[in-house]
Amino acid sequence: MKAISSKTVHVDLELAGTLFGQLERATRCGRGIVRDSYGPGEQAAHDIIRAAGERIGLEVSIDAIGNLAMTLPGKDRRTPRIVIGSHLDSVPQGGNFDGAAGVVAGLCALAALREAGFVPACDIGVMAIRAEESSWFDVSYLGSAGALGLLDPQCLSVRRSDNGRTLEETLLQRGFDPEAIRQRRRLLDPEQVRAYLELHIEQGPRLMAEGLPAAVVSGIRGCKRFRNARCVGQYGHSGALPRALRHDAVAATVAFLHHMEGVWQRAEGQGADLLLTTGELYTDVAAHAPSKVAGETRFVLDLRSVSEEVMEAIVAEARRAAEQIGSQYRVSFDLGAATDSPPAMMDPRLRSCLMSLLEQPLEMPSGAGHDAAVFAKAGIPSAMIFVRNDHGSHNPEEAMALEDFALGTRALIGLLQRFPL
Ligand SMILES: [Zn+2]
Repeated sequence: MKAISSKTVHVDLELAGTLFGQLERATRCGRGIVRDSYGPGEQAAHDIIRAAGERIGLEVSIDAIGNLAMTLPGKDRRTPRIVIGSHLDSVPQGGNFDGAAGVVAGLCALAALREAGFVPACDIGVMAIRAEESSWFDVSYLGSAGALGLLDPQCLSVRRSDNGRTLEETLLQRGFDPEAIRQRRRLLDPEQVRAYLELHIEQGPRLMAEGLPAAVVSGIRGCKRFRNARCVGQYGHSGALPRALRHDAVAATVAFLHHMEGVWQRAEGQGADLLLTTGELYTDVAAHAPSKVAGETRFVLDLRSVSEEVMEAIVAEARRAAEQIGSQYRVSFDLGAATDSPPAMMDPRLRSCLMSLLEQPLEMPSGAGHDAAVFAKAGIPSAMIFVRNDHGSHNPEEAMALEDFALGTRALIGLLQRFPL
């Protein structure tokens, strides 16, 4: 495996450290970070990053919905560009690196290329994307989907979770143009983007567990979710009903979920990417009692995978098992409709180039959603680098070592130097 020559390009960790420090000081609120989408926290982060882009000498522009672009001009300015992006907003009481790491990595990469006198074949832009998190407006990817003209204009009437202002009012208040969303205007033409690249902290524990500083993302998992699954049996006296005459909704639900756990284990054994979760499971508080056989349960079954085929097979198996276990326990399951968010695969050529740039290459799926999924679904070849991060994400304890950040950023720079692939 080939390591990137650090002789030609130097990642300026002082610049990275300074920016992370500025971002933290400007947006820390109590223990955590608050960069509220289209609010003062996110704006403070945009102001810091914009000033840094200007200092580096990049061309700065802001689109109609507030996404910030900082561009290193290429030799041919009309040819499709490369976009390095991530978001600058955070969840309430989040950490300093979720999102911001990707924007800072982009700035460090362009600063390094400029410093080394490297003129790329095409423009390379760093995009500081607005409002990726759904915690403020209950819509994910407002900035990236809005830039690509993919937002449903109805989102303009969604109210911010804390202050109740609509997205439209909030955009106007910040001086942006809600008409761009209403008219589904493309602020970024997918035909004019040859690749989208995003560095992000890993939000799970795998890189820490494996002792690896960085990984290449294979794809962003899709999700199918039975949000309103039910099992209906019959209430009865717990002391009087023999097992053979029961219609026990709890016993049947437990058997069903246990069966699905086995299905999951077998799928894993065959190397399939799959996660199954029941995060909610209820009996009816108005009707249940310690002395009763339960006549009804409600539960959620959440399936995630990078493979649509795997998810479809598991959905089919869940329906089959619900039927069979239902008749075995004399109850009826109604799984209801599954919500569907398809997986987004990262580009194979970009992935293999990135893999060749890591000294200890590892590919892994992303369990969380990212702006990269929006770009990939718009047909733009996309790739992601994960950087090791301790204590998970969406909490104040996010911890990323600058050395790991530098290693991920060097892979990003190596990829930029190899274009066109
Ligand atoms: Zn993020």
